[in-house]
Amino acid sequence: MSWLTNFVLPKIRAAVGRKAVPDSLWHKCPGCEQMLFYRELEANLHVCRNCGHHLRISAALRLKILFDDGAFTQIELPRTILDPLRFRDRKRYTDRLKEGQAVLGSQGDAVVVAHGKIGGFATVIAAFEFEFMGGSMGVAVGEALLAAAKLAVLQEAALIIVPASGGARMQEGALSLMQMPRTIIAADMVKEAGLPYIVVLTDPTTGGVSASFAMVGDITLAEPGAVIGFAGARVIKETIHEHLPEGFQHSEYLLEHGMIDQVVPRAELRATLGRIIGLLREPQRSDEVVSPAAETS
Ligand SMILES: [Zn+2]
Repeated sequence: MSWLTNFVLPKIRAAVGRKAVPDSLWHKCPGCEQMLFYRELEANLHVCRNCGHHLRISAALRLKILFDDGAFTQIELPRTILDPLRFRDRKRYTDRLKEGQAVLGSQGDAVVVAHGKIGGFATVIAAFEFEFMGGSMGVAVGEALLAAAKLAVLQEAALIIVPASGGARMQEGALSLMQMPRTIIAADMVKEAGLPYIVVLTDPTTGGVSASFAMVGDITLAEPGAVIGFAGARVIKETIHEHLPEGFQHSEYLLEHGMIDQVVPRAELRATLGRIIGLLREPQRSDEVVSPAAETS
């Protein structure tokens, strides 16, 4: 019996386990609740073919989608103070950090910074990782955005930040709030160097992130249907005792009300960004590129 239970059973379980259908084969669309075949979803850049809902994606995939040929070099980010307040809620903050790192398989935090080219132009991208503690902004994130800005200035490159964040990281208290002015300084460094600073708002961009660097881009784009706002809709509704308008705090609503410049589907982001950077950096060359096509049409 012990031979059976100790040796044979685990082997059978391992064999069966390998063939078992992975949970990730089908995904339910949060927009229309249709079951989507994962491979098809992946091929469509995680946008639902049925309703066009843009699902949240990882920072790594974001970089691959945005850079020319999916080619980029990720930079190492400065190490920062861990758990400055020795914070603990239901779990220790240090345990939450470790869990986030285990999920991502890296030693990083909620932002990944890389450089490469978009439309042939040197570009630095700082992309948020929502899976890491809701993309919340603590000291490490502030440090990462400063590093990205410094790199953009050094390389004379455009800076693109792609937030996906619930806001400031409460486990770091006032230190997380200090990242709001710090990230504004980062954005200003790029602007003062005469380089383009572009923000691509994705779902969700809220709280202290929406109240700092995310709203001061030279150009602000957003993915369709992204939730973008400061306080949550429910909190606002309960505070002012009013019905909120249809589509409140969504990309399209913000575009209608002049808060952002353009809503761009994920598949068109790279081309759009390339065109914008081209217009900002080499207006003359852009004219040359644009005019022959205009003549033939
Ligand atoms: Zn859908």
